[in-house]
Amino acid sequence: MEPGKRLVDKVAIVTGGASGIGAATARLFGLHGAAVLLTDSNVPLGKSIVQEIASAGGTAAFAEQDVRSEARWEAIVAQAEKDYGRVDILCNIAGISGRDPKQNIQPGPTAGPRLADQTLEHWNRVMEINSTGVYLGTRAAIPAMQRAGGGSIINISSICGIVGSHANAAYHASKGAVRLFSKAAAIQYAPDGIRVNSVHPGFVDTPMTAAGHANPEVARKRLEATPLGRFGTPQDIANGCLYLASDDSSWVTGTELVIDGGMTAN
Ligand code: NAD
Repeated sequence: MEPGKRLVDKVAIVTGGASGIGAATARLFGLHGAAVLLTDSNVPLGKSIVQEIASAGGTAAFAEQDVRSEARWEAIVAQAEKDYGRVDILCNIAGISGRDPKQNIQPGPTAGPRLADQTLEHWNRVMEINSTGVYLGTRAAIPAMQRAGGGSIINISSICGIVGSHANAAYHASKGAVRLFSKAAAIQYAPDGIRVNSVHPGFVDTPMTAAGHANPEVARKRLEATPLGRFGTPQDIANGCLYLASDDSSWVTGTELVIDGGMTAN
């Protein structure tokens, strides 16, 4: 392997690759030599990140995807195998906060509707994208990883999958589901050499959090809750994904990688 390149000869599918944490992860995987099939529902932005990866000398392609579609998942995995020969890494990053941008941001440490204000429709949408999408992706990738002789599945949960907060119960539930789903999948597929881990970011500056972090009251409370005293960057989370994707973590499965500036240590 070329020095400094940790994913040479590996093929990665990265969902949510058009923005924030997904874009940073896809870029980093590309820099480390992986062939990346970047997927997202945002076509222009997804294509622009693929262009960036290619301009930096990496190998990447874009595929439009709504992670809620079972049939589309089959097609995505088939495309990765057809174009690049195998699937070694699946990074399930696509997600939504479920916060209505028109709604006033509550001054609690996390923003979003309170439980009694959440409709069933809202609950289902958050669960379908954040949890069911991860299940569908994991299920679709497993046969391809078995064919490849193993693999690494990285599911993005959140600190909200570990602790509760003032608001947005659906988001907490969806991310908590990702955490335990990953452990069950890790146990079931360890005999196939398929590792499954969850990543739990704290408050990271991305388009998802931009409105909240632009509100000084919300930003102050979130920073006070973060011992290291700054918001995370998408790169902070991508670095953790790189570790879990690479053979450096070959004895790591069913674990939770918390990257939160110390927030949940409190
Ligand atoms: P982001 O909004 O910048 O990126 C999310 C991406 O997911 C977007 O490109 C969006 O188009 C895509 N997406 C949304 N719904 C989709 C769907 N149905 N199908 C396909 N793609 C879809 O947000 P981000 O902050 O980079 O978040 C990435 C992940 O990290 C999410 O799962 C989020 O819940 C999680 N997370 C973020 C933070 C944070 O502070 N930013 C903290 C903890 C966890």
